[in-house]
Amino acid sequence: MIQGIGASDGIAIGKVYKYEPVEIVITKEMCQDVETEILRFDESIKAGIEALEILKSKTENEMDEETAAIFGAHIEILRDPELAKAVSERIISEKVKAEYALKTVSDRFVAIFEAMEDAYIRERAADIKDVTRRVLLILKGIKSKGLSEIDEAVILVARDLTPSDTALLNRELILGFITDIGGRTSHSAIMARTMEIPAVVGTGGGFDQLCNGDLVILDGMMGSILIHPTADEIENYNEKMGILNKEKALWKSCMGQKSSTKDNKDIDLAANIGSPDDIDGVLSNDGDGIGLYRTEFLYMGRKNFPTEDEQYDSYKTVLDNMGDKPVVVRTLDIGGDKELSYFDMPKELNPFLGNRALRLCLQNMDMFKTQLRALLRAAVYGNLHIMFPMIATIEEFRKAKSVLQEVERDLEMEKIPYSRNYKTGIMIEIPAAALLANVFAKEVDFFSIGTNDLIQYTFAADRMNEHVSYLYQPYNPSLLKLIQMVTEAAHKEGKWVGMCGEMAGEIQALPLLIGLGLDELSMSAPSILKARYSLKQIDSTKAKGMADMALQSCTEEEVKLLIDAFWNEA
Ligand code: PEP
Ligand code: MG
Repeated sequence: MIQGIGASDGIAIGKVYKYEPVEIVITKEMCQDVETEILRFDESIKAGIEALEILKSKTENEMDEETAAIFGAHIEILRDPELAKAVSERIISEKVKAEYALKTVSDRFVAIFEAMEDAYIRERAADIKDVTRRVLLILKGIKSKGLSEIDEAVILVARDLTPSDTALLNRELILGFITDIGGRTSHSAIMARTMEIPAVVGTGGGFDQLCNGDLVILDGMMGSILIHPTADEIENYNEKMGILNKEKALWKSCMGQKSSTKDNKDIDLAANIGSPDDIDGVLSNDGDGIGLYRTEFLYMGRKNFPTEDEQYDSYKTVLDNMGDKPVVVRTLDIGGDKELSYFDMPKELNPFLGNRALRLCLQNMDMFKTQLRALLRAAVYGNLHIMFPMIATIEEFRKAKSVLQEVERDLEMEKIPYSRNYKTGIMIEIPAAALLANVFAKEVDFFSIGTNDLIQYTFAADRMNEHVSYLYQPYNPSLLKLIQMVTEAAHKEGKWVGMCGEMAGEIQALPLLIGLGLDELSMSAPSILKARYSLKQIDSTKAKGMADMALQSCTEEEVKLLIDAFWNEA
């Protein structure tokens, strides 16, 4: 058995598919015979075209024409006589191997394309890189399947999955995934919960222990993986799946009901989303709103920045679909574990403490203003709440607000329809902001506590590092004190406080969070109905009493015992 961290609930039984992006290293190697080398190059181009033709028609049949056209464009690049000519000339003049000749020619083309003014032409540079990689793999005899080429139901096993890898996963075919690194709050784990893909992360050496085709049972609740299970174990897990499905039916019975405690205290149970595609899940789970729209995913898995209009379309879709319900849209939060391939972010020693999120936006005004313009234009269609991430000081918030006002003035002058009817708030994810919540509370409309980062920064423990995952302590009294400072300060000023970190979706934590005074909890959509069902068993006055005791405790263990006792009596 392999033990990791349960990252997304659910059970999956299936065969292992190991995914490892191959790194291709090309060095200058001389060739024996130029003719043979040119022939080798021609053959690899032919093989590349054949593979792309297959991929193109498969994409046409299973996805859409537009996506298939990408592969059509790649075929064109390989058919381009300019490319063949340049590579052959280099092989002849320098007597080098085809790999080196192709790589240097391709690098030159990429540099020329990337320097172009026209965004469309610049984009072609990424296509050349992609196609070059394909041919280099053929020349080197390396067989590598991309994530998008998986065509059977499997359990994906990787050393790591970036958020953009995760976004590419086909929900129909990926029964579950397992990664060596990561914790409950790494972004791939968060996405797995939204996509309802069972997942285990942080296994340490799971990748090396598993082989392609191994039958495994992945238990996303326990964080365990059973290798070559016996017939009894399979039957046992099939039973567990049956129980899970029955529980789900019970939670479904809360559809259309209010989210309130036993003593009728209303709590908004909202959803965290990463894209307009997640709206279906929010509606089918009857979310009371969107408590966190992570807009950075709109910027990922693509080759250049999304335009103002593209962003406007996405925000409008979300606001439109949610009607009057509040939609909290977080401005771009890149950096840390979220990178953009087309945006040159300098490598930093401590990216989680570096130039990320709002800090980066305030230094890249064009990028920031484009997003704010799109948001204010979309505000016409719903109940928009704009939220700034990674705020440490009140000056940062004031600066961000002043940019918003500038954007309002620009839109006014340009006579572009927009709305001033929106709210502004901040994420509380840096202890400095929690400690000064009384100051912020006078100027913001709302707070949302991002426990993923707040815990990381309070305990000085990297959320991606499984070796320090024991310090992910949402129940530790130190964190609870910070939360309480925030709710108290906000309520004094008549403002509301939400929580959108992963702690908000932990059903066990519900009475504690109610007792600490949270007004809204935002979680992955599939958790909402379970939370609504559990909320009805909680008396808010008793929860407050338990939270007061928790605040007096010394350790996380003590707090967990108080919570267990609360549930036993509920
Ligand atoms: C958080 O930090 O708790 C949060 C919700 O934001 P993210 O996980 O995207 O950093
Ligand atoms: Mg965060």
